[in-house]
Amino acid sequence: MTTATLETWKEISEAAYRDLENAVGEENVSREPAVLDGYAWQPTINDDPAKWVKRPVAVVLPSSTEEVQEVVRVCNRHGLKFKAFSTGWGVYSGPTYDNVVQIDLRRMNRILDIDEKNMYALVEPYVCGAQLQAEAMKRGLNCHIIGAGPACSPLASATSGWGVGWDGIYMSYGHRNLLGAEWVLPSGELLRVGSCDSGLGWFSPDGPGPSLRGLMRGSTGALSGLGVFTKCALKLYPWPGPGRVNIKGLLLDAKAEIPENVRFHMCFFPDRKRLADAVYRMGEAEIGYLATRTAVAAFIYTFAPHLLRRIAGTRALRDVLSKGTKWVFVIMLVGATEEEIEYQDAASWPITTGSP
Ligand SMILES: Cc1cc2nc3c(=O)[nH]c(=O)nc-3n(C[C@H](O)[C@H](O)[C@H](O)COP(=O)(O)OP(=O)(O)OC[C@H]3O[C@@H](n4cnc5c(N)ncnc54)[C@H](O)[C@@H]3O)c2cc1C
Repeated sequence: MTTATLETWKEISEAAYRDLENAVGEENVSREPAVLDGYAWQPTINDDPAKWVKRPVAVVLPSSTEEVQEVVRVCNRHGLKFKAFSTGWGVYSGPTYDNVVQIDLRRMNRILDIDEKNMYALVEPYVCGAQLQAEAMKRGLNCHIIGAGPACSPLASATSGWGVGWDGIYMSYGHRNLLGAEWVLPSGELLRVGSCDSGLGWFSPDGPGPSLRGLMRGSTGALSGLGVFTKCALKLYPWPGPGRVNIKGLLLDAKAEIPENVRFHMCFFPDRKRLADAVYRMGEAEIGYLATRTAVAAFIYTFAPHLLRRIAGTRALRDVLSKGTKWVFVIMLVGATEEEIEYQDAASWPITTGSP
C-alpha cells in the first residue's frame, strides 16, 4: 500500500502529544498513522494524480477559539508548525513541511448568526456553502459560493485562499464579502479585525484605523501561514427565488424546478474578442446573477485525467472540446419582479447574440 511521503517524517514527542491532549481532550487528537495518512492523501490539483503530501505528526480537532489558541501555543512551545483545515477541498490544506500538526476545524461548524436586516452571517470554519445558502435562502438572502463548489468553507476562501466563483458577477469574491474576522495569530494571541473589535457588531472589516485585510489575506490568501481564523462575518445578498429549491434525484440525475423568475443562457462565440466584448457589455448593463466561462476540458482533466488523455486521441471528440466549446459562457438571470426578468432577458439578447 502506498503511504505518505515518509523519508524525513518523525513521530511527535510524548510531551507535545500530552499537551495537545490537554488542549483539546484525549478523544480529539490522534497520531494513528492511518488517520494521519487520511490527511496526507491530497490528490486534487496535484500534477500527478497519485501524489501524497507530507504526513502530519498529529491531527487535532478543537471545538472553540480558546482551544485553537491553546493548540497554537503548544506548537510554539514544542517547535512544531501547524496547518488549518476547514473543509479541506484540495491539496492546499495539507502539510507541506515536516513537523506539522494538522488543525482540523470540523467541530467548529455553526452558523452563529444570520442578521437579516443588515444582511450578513457570522460563521465558523466548517460551515459549508450549501449549509449557509440553505439557511440564507429561507430568509430571501443568498451567499457567495466559490467555483470549487458548495461543499467548501466560505470562511476559508474569504480569509485564507482565493475566493472566486460563478456568482461573482453579482456577489463579488470572497475577500470583498468579509465583514470582520476573529484571528488566532501565530503567537496564539487573539485579534478581532473590524468593527466587531469595538463592540459595534460585525458590519465592517475595517477601522477605526488602518485596514488589516490586506495584511491578513492580500489578493490570494496566506493559506494558514499567518494563523487560524475561527469565525468571520460574510455579506449576504438578495435572493428573490423560492426559500427552497425543489430537486428530485441525486447527483448527475438531479432535476431542479426552475423558478419563473430565473433564466439560463448558454452562449457560444466564434472567438475570444467577441466573448470578452459580451462580458463587458453584461457588466455595463448590470444584469446577471451568475456567469461562468466553462472550460470543459479543464473539468474533465481535474476529475477524470485518464479519460481526457483518451479523448485527446480521438479526432471528433477532441475537436468538440478544443474548438466547439472554447469560447462559451453560461449566464443565469434572476429578477426580483416579472418586469425585471423581462428587462434582463431583453437586454441580454443583443449582447449574447453579438448584435450591436
Ligand atoms: C477542482 C478544484 C476547483 C477549484 N475551484 C476554485 C474556484 O472556483 N474558486 C476558488 O476560489 N478556488 C478554487 N479552488 C482552489 C481551492 O481549492 C479552494 O479555494 C479552497 O481549497 C477551498 O477549499 P475549502 O473551502 O475546503 O478550504 P480548505 O481547503 O480547508 O482551506 C483552503 C486554504 O485555506 C487554509 N485555511 C482553511 N481554513 C483556515 C482557517 N480557518 N484559518 C486559516 N487558514 C485556513 C488552508 O490551510 C488552505 O491552505 C479549486 C480547487 C480545486 C481542487
